[in-house]
Order: sequence, then structure tokens, then C-alpha cells
Amino acid sequence: MNTEEAIDKVYQSVLKRDPGQPEFHQAVYEILQSLKLLLEREEDYLDILPRIVEPERAILFRVPWVTDDNQVRVNRGYRVQFNSAIGPFKGGLRFHPSVNLSIIKFLGFEQIFKNSLTGLPIGGGKGGSDFDPKGKSDMEVMRFCQSFMIELEHHIGQNTDVPAGDIGVGKREIGYLFGQFKRLRNSYEPGVLTGKDLNFGGSLIRPEATGYGCAYFAEEMLHAHNDSLSGKKVLVSGSGNVAQYAVEKITQLGGKCLTLSDSSGFIHDQDGIDEEKLAFVKELKNERHGRISEYTKVFTKATFHAGQKPWGVPADFAFPCATQNEIEAKDAEQLIMGGCKGICEGANMPSTLDAIRIYYQNKILYGPAKAANAGGVATSALEMSQNSQRLAWTREEVDGRLRNIMVNIHRVAAETANEFDRPGDLMAGANIAGFRKVADAMKGQGIV
Ligand code: NDP
Repeated sequence: MNTEEAIDKVYQSVLKRDPGQPEFHQAVYEILQSLKLLLEREEDYLDILPRIVEPERAILFRVPWVTDDNQVRVNRGYRVQFNSAIGPFKGGLRFHPSVNLSIIKFLGFEQIFKNSLTGLPIGGGKGGSDFDPKGKSDMEVMRFCQSFMIELEHHIGQNTDVPAGDIGVGKREIGYLFGQFKRLRNSYEPGVLTGKDLNFGGSLIRPEATGYGCAYFAEEMLHAHNDSLSGKKVLVSGSGNVAQYAVEKITQLGGKCLTLSDSSGFIHDQDGIDEEKLAFVKELKNERHGRISEYTKVFTKATFHAGQKPWGVPADFAFPCATQNEIEAKDAEQLIMGGCKGICEGANMPSTLDAIRIYYQNKILYGPAKAANAGGVATSALEMSQNSQRLAWTREEVDGRLRNIMVNIHRVAAETANEFDRPGDLMAGANIAGFRKVADAMKGQGIV
């Protein structure tokens, strides 16, 4: 059997074992395609594949809770502990009605390689629930989080598995989860969750980290071509945590962000989303939990496009920061037609495989999510370090470390791409470098 057939055999077994998990299949396919380059040179890595596509443990549980008007609701909770070869499982919790095992497994699988790329000792995992925090009162969210933690508590710990936030899970939810964990354990262990409030072990710059890190990564991609974000017209999708801080840093680096979106549509502001406008978005989304369309009521020169994505607006660079598969082939074509010269992924797997093919055919710059959005989890690991030391580092210190980590991730991805004669192919470089470290650790630890 040649390498290509051996890889295909692993992929076919995933399809057969896990039918009905299209997002997980997509994530596995992308990695396996990149790994061909490595496996053709070093065949003994092939033995690792059947194990690395199988989570070490997947927990599925019932989450019953009571609404404000005394109705019983039942949601489903998940924690997929994918790989602990290089450190405790680490990855966020997502609360969104679309959550299912396929989505949690794709996110957990990607997290293995992303966490490895940060250079920090963290394994890969992910969790969440099909609970929708939208439209729920604070008390309902609290009761849900408490019920969720009653089960999750059995499976997590600062040396075992360290969850954090993701879509629908921010500072409020992490606070409720931590409070309940502390009560159940009767022990103050802040290193068990990251993304906490500053008052109880959170790190400065953690809220900003994914968006800032993504902008730093894009700056590195451009520097490699003697260019920069300064003066670039930029499209951003989403308007949550990652999108807000991507806009903040891109603007500080001299770029002009023209769009933001949510699941109801996108806003287009030709004058750019400056500091004052971004402050409005933060208040709208983080405090009032409102819709992005309200932006155009305050900043009347901007326009709202209901039910549409921003990818048809002419611009130089795009930062998808909302959700998976938000750039399909037709969106990628629109981006290219509008003059887009680069994509840097803030969200996880925001581009379909066909969209990625179009980026490569058109030779535009492509910063894949595993590398470009790793700043969030890297800063979570810095939060864990501060918790262990019982110290809090300054904003400047954390931001400086974050920037160094993003520069390093870009360097490692670019160097690995060169090593395999694929200059500029950051997807191949990131996938191979992330895999190799985990696979070497797995080899060293025997068949476990
Ligand atoms: P938030 O919940 O803060 O924001 C999510 C944003 O995306 C909202 O604007 C939301 O709109 C929009 N969105 C979500 N689902 C959909 C959908 N199906 N269709 C259209 N829009 C949608 O989440 P984050 O900003 O934290 O996460 C965004 C992305 O970044 C995710 O892919 C996440 O996995 C990834 N990521 C996050 C990290 C973090 O540190 N937070 C770290 C690394 C990656 P609406 O409010 O209408 O739902």
C-alpha cells in the first residue's frame, strides 16, 4: 500500500465509524491531505494516524435546568478530550443551538494541532452544549451553567482538562461555571478554567488575545512580502469577542475595517469602524446583547444588509471571525473579484475546502485558523502559568508574550512549509509542524 492509499484507508475508516459528522470529516480530511508531504518522507508516522483521529474520551451528558417561569428544559452537554500527549486537554466550551458531536469533535481535533503550534504544554479538547444563551435571563444562564458544571466537574482539573470560552461562552458564563466548580470541589483552583474575570484569576489581555493575535499574524504574513496592514481596507465578519478585538488591533496597525456581522446580516461602513464606533459595538454586543443592525441607527452613513455575508464588499484583506464554513466557494470567488489579496482566519474552520482551493488557485495569502487564531489559547496557557505562580503579569508583559508567540507560530509554519518545498503554504506548514510535535510525544509514550 502506498502512502496515499494508507492515508485514504484512515479517512475511510473515520467516515465509516463516524457517519453523520461532516464537520469532523472536513477537519480530518484537511489535516490528512497536508500530512501526505510528511508521511511520504517519514512513513513511521503512519502508525499514529488511526490513534490521533480517535478522541481519548468523549463525554455526553444531560443538562436539566429550570426557566424563570418554572419550565423544565433539557439540553445536551459535551466534552471531547481528544489528545493529552503534550499536556492537559485544553479547549473552549461553545454554547450554541447548532452544537452537536460533529462540531465539538472538529473543534477538538483542530485544537490538538493549534495548541501544539503555540509551543506551550497543552493538549487538545473541546466541549459545549446546544443551549442558546440568546434571549435568556442572567439567572437562567446561571442555572444552566451550574447544572452543566455538576457533570463536567467529574472530568476536569488543572492537570487534567482546562476548559475556556468560545461562541456563547464569555466572562459571565466562565464566572458561573467557576463558582459552581469551586463549590463542588470545596477547593480554590483557578487554573481549572481560563477566560476568568480579573478579580478571580483572569489574565489581562485574555479577552483581546484571539483578535489581537490574529491581527499580529496577518501583519507577519504581510511583512514576509514587505507589506503591512497599514492603509489596507479590511472585511471582518462576526461581532463577538474575536471580531471586536481583531478590529481594534487592525485599526491600531493602520488598517481600515469596513464591515462587521452577526447571524442576521452585516453592516458596511465605508468610513471605517473607528475607536468610537467600536466602543458602541462592544456595549451593544457585550452589555445589551443587541443586533448589529442597530449600528446603522447611530452611524447613519453605514448600511445594513439583512441575511447577507460581507464577502462581496471590495477590499484588500478579509478576517472571517464568526463561525465554521462561513466562506464557501462562491464567497471566495467574490472576495477575489473584489480585489482581496489575503485571508486571515479568526474563526475556526471558516473556509470550506473548496474555498481554500480557490485561495490557492489565485495565489492569495492564506493564514489558516490553527495558526492565525492560536493567540487565544496561548494566552489561556499564560493565564494558567500566572495561576500556578499566584501572580498577575502586566498588560504589557502578556501582550508582548502574545506577540512573540504569534511571530513564532508564523515563523515555524513558514519554515516547515519551506522544509517541504511548499514556500508560502502556511496551511501545510502549520498542519505538519503541529502534528509532528504531538506525534513524536505519542511515539515516546507507547501505545496508550
Ligand atoms: P462570540 O459568541 O463572542 O461571537 C460569535 C459571533 O459570530 C457573533 O457575532 C455571532 O452572531 C456570529 N455567529 C455565530 N454563529 C453564527 C452563524 N451560524 N452564522 C452567522 N454568524 C454567526 O464568539 P467568539 O468571537 O468567541 O468566536 C468566534 C469564532 O472564533 C468561533 O469560530 C470560535 O470557535 C473562534 N475562536 C474563538 C476563540 C476565543 O478565544 N473566543 C479562540 C479561537 C477561535 P450572533 O450573535 O447573531 O449569533
